[in-house]
Amino acid sequence: MTFNLFNTMSGEVEPLTPLHPGRLGMYTCGPTVHDQAHIGNLRTYLAEDLLRRHLEARGLQVTQVMNVTDVDDKIIAKATAAHMDLHQFTAPFTEVFFVDLDRLGVQPAHHYPRATDYIGQMIQLVQRLLDSGHAYRSEGSVYFRISSFPGYGRLSHLDISGLRTGGSGRIDSDEYEAKETVRDFVLWKAGAEGDLAAWESPFGWGRPGWHLECSAMAMDLLGDSFDLHCGGVDNKFPHHENEIAQSESATGKTFVKHWFHPEHLLIAGGKMAKSQGNFVTLSTLIDRGQSPLTVRYLLLTGAHYRHKLQFKEELLVEAEKDVERLTAFWKRCSAGLTDLLPTRDSRDPLADAARRASDLFEAALDDDLNMPDAIATTFDLLREGNRLLDQGRAGRQGCLAALDALRQVDTRLGLIEKSAAVTQELSDAERDLLNLRDRARQDRDFAESDRLRDQLLESGVQVEDTKVGTRWHRV
Ligand code: AMP
Ligand code: ZN
Repeated sequence: MTFNLFNTMSGEVEPLTPLHPGRLGMYTCGPTVHDQAHIGNLRTYLAEDLLRRHLEARGLQVTQVMNVTDVDDKIIAKATAAHMDLHQFTAPFTEVFFVDLDRLGVQPAHHYPRATDYIGQMIQLVQRLLDSGHAYRSEGSVYFRISSFPGYGRLSHLDISGLRTGGSGRIDSDEYEAKETVRDFVLWKAGAEGDLAAWESPFGWGRPGWHLECSAMAMDLLGDSFDLHCGGVDNKFPHHENEIAQSESATGKTFVKHWFHPEHLLIAGGKMAKSQGNFVTLSTLIDRGQSPLTVRYLLLTGAHYRHKLQFKEELLVEAEKDVERLTAFWKRCSAGLTDLLPTRDSRDPLADAARRASDLFEAALDDDLNMPDAIATTFDLLREGNRLLDQGRAGRQGCLAALDALRQVDTRLGLIEKSAAVTQELSDAERDLLNLRDRARQDRDFAESDRLRDQLLESGVQVEDTKVGTRWHRV
């Protein structure tokens, strides 16, 4: 099976074949660190995490780069207001960002370039664009000449001829005067006396434009042409369109082969955004008692990555139940490895069901990373597995195969084994109660055994008596 993935550039779901056999370069637009990331931002990073995990599960060696934008207009404005230097201001937000990713189980990228560490490469890129006539100087700034790049607009499939402003609102209105045409965008912004962030360059004192930052860092770390570029849908235009224009004008090569743009997280019908003040952070949800793994589950499985997802806290209740069901099934199968009788693999219906479920799971992800369909196949396995185990029709081999299937799911989902580990341990007091209850049952003192069962339930441990002994799980 090939892995088919929607490519924004072609507008089609198409095979993702690496430029170099066996390995793949992946650039993911990272955070602008002037605030804490909200769970909308995190949905995008989780979709990218899923994509990378799936590529790796298919045997590709992925090199992932995620930039940290630590200089831009908003950062400068906020740091100036707070009387802080750039680094002082951005460092805590950067740190919190990494904590959030870690809590959510996002695999770390291989490189996290900071824009302020790449000013030299950015200046070189601007110089190349000036030398080749793709850029011009005006009033101390340097602008990209869009009319020099006929492919402009190909990615976003927009008719950009009548466009006056950038979709992200990051173009200053006072730039219009200085530009040859309004569509041109800034590569290097002229600095003013006393600016918080400015660097010396051949074209004057100033600082890089946001789009330029990503082009310079991506090409420095992944080469002039690489496989995969990712960012939320709002990055398509103008950010990624501008990255393509700058990079391809400078190198004459195709910048990126495949473009991946996960859709937004909404709240109360609108896009969750820092500027709207309608955002929810991971820390807020954790403070309200949610597990980060439940948040991970919801954001990964709540909708296909190309569909919008409407966030409601009630959805986390459902998500938590799903995670618990997966975890309980994992534990039941683990217990089955020791408690059940060995079976012949070919005769164990659970082993059959597990292999079927694995194939269906992979097929759903190979079809444009369809996680909602993929996870549905895992729940089919869970239902069938529990039925077979209840009926005593599955044995050790079936449990082994089911665990293999769950482990395979977890290389992408990244939470079943973790949740099972969190809930696996009984405290000493709970272990004592369980042992006392076993003894009471052996003595046929059922009143006492029921009392102890209720006591365990009060401390969150549900006890179940099965044909093969006593089982427990957390509720
Ligand atoms: P920013 O820090 O604003 O540059 O955004 C970081 C990433 O989050 C970018 O890839 C954005 O496209 C993405 N993003 C912003 N808002 C949302 C949202 N509501 N839902 C999903 N992704 C978002
Ligand atoms: Zn970017």
